[in-house]
Amino acid sequence: MALPSSSRFVIIGAGIHGLSTAMHLAKALKAKGQGGGEDIVVLDKTGIAAGASGIACGVIRNNYYQPAMRELMAHSVSVWESDPKAYSYHPVGYMQISPEVMHEQVATIFEQQRAIGYDSDFIEGEKACTAYMKEILHDWRAQGITSVLHEKKGGYANNTASIYGLAKKAEDEGVRIITGVKVVGFKSGNGSGAITAVETDRGTIGCDYVVVGVGPWVKTIWDMLELPRTVDIRKPDGDFARGIRMWTYWSLQEGTLGVDPEVQKTNDGKMPPVIHVDTDAPLYSDVDGSLITDKLWGIYYKPDFNFGGVQGGAMPYKVERDPDEVAVDPYGPESPEFVVDDQFAHMWCSALAHCQERFSGQIGRYKKEPSGGLGCFTPDNFPVFDVFRENVYIIADSNHGYKMIGVGELVAKDILGESSRLLEPFRFSRYAEGKLHPTSNSPFPWS
Ligand SMILES: Cc1cc2nc3c(=O)[nH]c(=O)nc-3n(C[C@H](O)[C@H](O)[C@H](O)COP(=O)(O)OP(=O)(O)OC[C@H]3O[C@@H](n4cnc5c(N)ncnc54)[C@H](O)[C@@H]3O)c2cc1C
Repeated sequence: MALPSSSRFVIIGAGIHGLSTAMHLAKALKAKGQGGGEDIVVLDKTGIAAGASGIACGVIRNNYYQPAMRELMAHSVSVWESDPKAYSYHPVGYMQISPEVMHEQVATIFEQQRAIGYDSDFIEGEKACTAYMKEILHDWRAQGITSVLHEKKGGYANNTASIYGLAKKAEDEGVRIITGVKVVGFKSGNGSGAITAVETDRGTIGCDYVVVGVGPWVKTIWDMLELPRTVDIRKPDGDFARGIRMWTYWSLQEGTLGVDPEVQKTNDGKMPPVIHVDTDAPLYSDVDGSLITDKLWGIYYKPDFNFGGVQGGAMPYKVERDPDEVAVDPYGPESPEFVVDDQFAHMWCSALAHCQERFSGQIGRYKKEPSGGLGCFTPDNFPVFDVFRENVYIIADSNHGYKMIGVGELVAKDILGESSRLLEPFRFSRYAEGKLHPTSNSPFPWS
């Protein structure tokens, strides 16, 4: 497709956020009589679903300790539910299975889910939790579990299929998606910080408004826009933590056990909820019985025909390197560096066997193919959704975001002047104002 010389709206990135925003913006413009999809172009340097959205495990849940995250997720789950077929969404539910150290916090999640009408059950006490789990999966045997939050909504979606579903909806609205075009810079007008044109490796596109949805590449675009390299964060005592790097990278650890997905069916023959277990019970090797860890650990998993087995992951690790030195490309399975290793396979398969007997002795079926990928995180590991340089909307989900299919709808409204209460807690100014989200005891940076 030829590159236009100008477009009212230029959206960078054909992942979940760029495409969802494009589709909703097209609809909103049309509804207001202010234009439509023909005013929007989406650019991607590689292709549709070439980034994190195309490799995501695809888990969709509400289980967040932060009230603002929960409300945002409840909205997104309703968007997934609006068209399960197009979004390749499997509403099997989700379980947060936790040790005593997380009990109290998860109890508050349950209370607040009730308050916002999000359907879930909460089981407390070691015996009751084991009984509940065995009722669903007869071979359940995880240790040290004292609460189970069973979300009846949510589940997972097939990563690439859902992004193509979104792309089709956007194109049906008249949006042009142009792939193989890399954004390399921006032009601004006389005396103003506003962006007047987007520079690409195939030419310059004049524009009125830019939306950035580039997932793990956000630091590159942030730098091109000359936005601050560090932030000062106001602490509860009024003092500031100064010079905190805006972006850091974590490497996500995921893989697939190449068993028949049907193996993980529930006692009554249904596909099970997505299982997420955190525990402080010692984890022993399923291969030789050696101790893997006696610290808090966590895993998640689900049977998935798309991945061809039981797919999931464990805690990510922080990339302890100057963010300027981290190579995001080649991305995902193509990365020579940020893919899982044998150590992950050993830990994750042993953890599966710790939870359910059916996985014991199965490590030989682990798929030895590159998997996992980088995520780019904000200083507090929560999203930033905000306008910079007067007319650039940045959607930086801090790697929470495949599940956030609804953010594009809220962003589209925000752009057209209908500010969203759900997005307010995610403004960039929260760092200077000290309006941070509460942090949980979970071993994951995104809970
Ligand atoms: C291994 C893994 C598993 C995950 N699992 C889950 C999960 O189960 N549930 C969940 O909610 N989240 C999950 N996430 C997080 C989630 O995938 C991301 O937060 C989300 O997909 C980001 O979407 P996005 O649209 O912002 O970016 P992306 O999907 O990364 O898309 C960005 C696009 O921008 C393009 N681009 C980048 N730079 C440029 C440029 N200069 N010019 C033009 N185009 C450019 C890229 O080619 C890419 O296609 C996971 C992430 C990883 C890595």
